[in-house]
Amino acid sequence: MSKRALVTGGAGFLGSHLCDALLAEGYSVVVADNLLTGRRCNFDHLRNEPRFEFQQIDINQPFDCGKVDYVFHFACPASPVDYTKHGIETLQVGSLGTFHALDVARKYGAKYLTSSTSECYGDPLEHPQKETYWGNVNPIGPRSVYDEAKRFSEAVTMAYHRYYNVDTRIVRIFNTYGPRMQLNDGRVVPNFMKQALRGEDLTVYGDGNQTRSFCYVSDEVDGFIRLSKSSEHLPVNIGNPTEFTILECAQRVLAVTGSKSKIRYEPLPQDDPKQRRPDITKARTLLGWEPKIDLETGLRMSLDYFRKATFEEKVLQG
Ligand code: UDP
Repeated sequence: MSKRALVTGGAGFLGSHLCDALLAEGYSVVVADNLLTGRRCNFDHLRNEPRFEFQQIDINQPFDCGKVDYVFHFACPASPVDYTKHGIETLQVGSLGTFHALDVARKYGAKYLTSSTSECYGDPLEHPQKETYWGNVNPIGPRSVYDEAKRFSEAVTMAYHRYYNVDTRIVRIFNTYGPRMQLNDGRVVPNFMKQALRGEDLTVYGDGNQTRSFCYVSDEVDGFIRLSKSSEHLPVNIGNPTEFTILECAQRVLAVTGSKSKIRYEPLPQDDPKQRRPDITKARTLLGWEPKIDLETGLRMSLDYFRKATFEEKVLQG
């Protein structure tokens, strides 16, 4: 019998790619997702896969999907637009949802991996960010619903490890992009791709000199799988260490799409981090992991998906 993995949030962007990777690793996979921001279409291609199962449940309530060997906790609204809209649910899934996911792991003696975030570092004063940095987070600002939910989620995970001996792992995920991102989730890559493909202005917030480091989804998921096989309990950064200003990101999108769109400057959202770049020394040494796909290549690999999504939206809007 193949090993069985539970993926909370498996209908989301990262969760669904993780499901594909786990199936390829030989797992059977059960997804628990309330479809708040996840979408069934992300696993349309698994319709005839007997090792795949979807349960539409809210993990903020205690739940039990049956015996599992591994729990991957990926449920959480993830884009600033989504988590601002669903602030309470975001706090709940980081707290209640994390307890419940860990309870499943504890009950079945399953291994556990939780998705955390570079947002734990807030607007970082240390650059690049190492796992040992405690961060510079505003606990009451608009991003706090996400940042503090994830920080709390890390704390609960470490507590279940220390007090209950659950075999846990924590991945700190930096900006990731690729197919299956929602066109309207407000993140910079889908926004720029959609705008470029429609010939609309690219909306750069602030002066565009703030930085992010973008990882293509297949690289990111490869990091998750490697971490899942390791026995490291402390957080590990998984992200691409090549740093771009948002203006440079816009230029890459224009180059890849061949679009003639212009740049339009809009106000910077409150507490928008000025810089983000992972120090991945730990992932390199511990997991032998590093990303292979640079931003321009990854954007090219995503182009068909964003073209199709933009076209479908246009058709729907009539
Ligand atoms: N951003 C932008 N234009 C957009 C969307 C985002 O300039 O249309 C900026 C945003 O202000 C931030 C960066 O791009 O500095 C990354 O934003 P995103 O929402 O993708 O993720 P974050 O890293 O802030 O969570």
